[in-house]
Amino acid sequence: MKHKCECESNMYEYTDGTHDIWLCYRCGRFEGASGGDEDFMQHITNDPLLILELIEDKVLIPVIFKS
Ligand SMILES: [Zn+2]
Repeated sequence: MKHKCECESNMYEYTDGTHDIWLCYRCGRFEGASGGDEDFMQHITNDPLLILELIEDKVLIPVIFKS
């Protein structure tokens, strides 16, 4: 599923297999699909930097789209 941000920029999808996160590198917005795990959503809403840490730790892996 491809997402477009409110700022018209493409959002980049990351997944850890359960949760899906869409990030906009232009304005910093993110959207998440928790896979039913509301605690996770609560965590990243309270502390969005956690997303970047999870990407750095390769817990969240980029989902590559074919153009
Ligand atoms: Zn944006």
